[in-house]
Amino acid sequence: MSGVLFDPPTNDPLKQEFLKIFQEIIQYDKKYAKRLETHYFMFKEAMQQKRDYQKAQNSLLTENIGRNALCPCNSGKKFKKCCLLVAET
Ligand SMILES: [Zn+2]
Repeated sequence: MSGVLFDPPTNDPLKQEFLKIFQEIIQYDKKYAKRLETHYFMFKEAMQQKRDYQKAQNSLLTENIGRNALCPCNSGKKFKKCCLLVAET
C-alpha cells in the first residue's frame, strides 16, 4: 500500500491527524495492516458482486418491460421515467 487516501475525499480538518495516527498504527502493526488490506479487498469484491447483480437485475427488467411501457409499479408513468430511472442511478 502506498500511503492512505480518503475515498471519497474529505476536507475535514481532522483528516491529517487521523491519517498520521492511522499510518503510525500500520507501521507498527504489520499484521493489522495485512488484515486491513484483506478486508479492503473482500469489501471491494462484495461491492463488485452487488453491482454485477444489480446490473443483471436491471437488464432483466428492461428486457421484459419496454422502456416506453407503463411502469409495473402502477405509478401511471412510463417505465423509463419511473422505476427504470431509479434503477439506473
Ligand atoms: Zn415505477
